[in-house]
Formats: sequence, C-alpha cells, structure tokens
Amino acid sequence: MSALRFCPIASGSSGNSTYIGTGDTHILIDAGISGKRAELLLEGLSVSAQSLNAIFITHEHADHILGAGVLSRRFDVPIYACENTWRKIDSRNLMGKIAPHNKKVFSYGQTVSVGDNLFLKPFQTPHDAAQPSGFNIFAEGRKISVATDMGIVTDTVREHIYGSDIMLLESNHDIEMLKNGPYPWQLKKRILGEYGHLSNAACGELITEIFSSKVKHIFLGHLSEENNEPALAFEAVSSILSANKIKPGCGFSLHLANRWERSYCVTYEKEFG
Ligand SMILES: [Zn+2]
Ligand SMILES: [Zn+2]
Repeated sequence: MSALRFCPIASGSSGNSTYIGTGDTHILIDAGISGKRAELLLEGLSVSAQSLNAIFITHEHADHILGAGVLSRRFDVPIYACENTWRKIDSRNLMGKIAPHNKKVFSYGQTVSVGDNLFLKPFQTPHDAAQPSGFNIFAEGRKISVATDMGIVTDTVREHIYGSDIMLLESNHDIEMLKNGPYPWQLKKRILGEYGHLSNAACGELITEIFSSKVKHIFLGHLSEENNEPALAFEAVSSILSANKIKPGCGFSLHLANRWERSYCVTYEKEFG
C-alpha cells in the first residue's frame, strides 16, 4: 500500500538529512552525513539508497551536503540545488565530481515534481550561505515544511510553513547557554545574527504564530551540541506553546529530531480523511 512517510534521519550540526517517501518515490532533503551512514539509516526504513529519486539541498554547508556527492555517484541519484548553491559547490569542489545529468537546478517559488506524486516548492531562508532554501513538500494531500538554518523568521518563512501537516523547524540553541558558552565571540555573533540560527525561544514563538488545527507533527531540529540540550529545547518550546494555550499532545505531537539516530517516522496510509 502506498503511504506517505516523513522521517528525519539525522539532525544537528553533525549532519542533517530527512527522508520523505510515497509508494516508490523516495527523496532526501540534505545528505549531511556520510553516504554509508545515510545508506544504513535508510535501510532501517526499508528503503534502499539505490531507489532514491533525488536529493534536495538546502544550502552548501558541510552538515547538509557531506554525503550527497557519494550517494549521487554510487547510486546515480540526481541532486537538486539553487543556481548559486551549485556555483559555490563547484567553485570549492565541495561534492567531488557530479555527473552532468545528475545536476539539477531549482529556483525559489518553482514547483519541482519527483516521481508521480511528490512535489517540492523551495523558498528563501535567511542564512549565511549562497542561496539558502527551505522546502514545502506536497504529497498524498498533505503539506510538509522543512525550514532550518535561519537567523530570523521572515514573512516568507511564515507564509510558506503555515498550514502544514508536518513541520521540521530549527530549535538550535538556548540563548543563555550560547552567550555564556565556550564559542569565540565572532561565532556567537554569527549564530545570533540575522543569517545564523534560530533559538529555542524564537522557534516556540514561530510555532505560536503560525499554529493551526491542521498541524499534526512538529519536529524540533538542528539542535546545537554545545549550546542546547534536547530536553531543554523541548521544555522551552513546550512552555512557550502552553503559555499560548497550545498543548503538545492535544491534536498534535511535538518531536525532537535526533542527532545520531533516526527520529520518529510519521506515516500516513493512502486513505486519508
Ligand atoms: Zn548552515
Ligand atoms: Zn546546518
């Protein structure tokens, strides 16, 4: 039976990758872990890396592209990225050689179809990369949003993630932990800046702003290893939501996207209502 499945398989500064599949269409958003590790994590979902239809790249930072080149070469998988992202990847040889037929370009606002029933719409995110993207994914009547690596929340981000059934959002750091932590000042400034990463508090506020009864699953992702703790991120976001009368567990689930292992896999069977 055809089903829609959504599962972050790695999340955080040590590597990001999210699996989305319907029937015989399978994609990854980012492949920031080794090709071998991506293969193993996909196997746990009974998906062979060989059957991947595409890898979509949010931006060229290593924690999002590390294994993309290997997967593309080993399994002949097309890689989709923005034009300026490709330019940066090529000029710095960040992925090794990619076969020309596997180099695909997308633009913000364009709808890209993969297989028969999966559609992706990229949108702009504020981050210090060449041309960073978030994604709306449409399949089986559902809307999914993936938006991490954002210094601030823009109207573009709000508009695109609104009305999603599933969201993977960034809950990168606790502001106090970051400010008092060991990072050099320049790096702290970068993370806290407009093109850095979203704090737990900013993530909680974002969810409060765009919350609707349509939301069924929210994943908190891209947690910092140095400046956050899973329990702290969960608690911080939950308490902001509760203060706004949004109760995780009532009508929707709040999940943590795990750093080193597969996260909860959301599955919708084909019949939905
Ligand atoms: Zn980044
Ligand atoms: Zn990142």
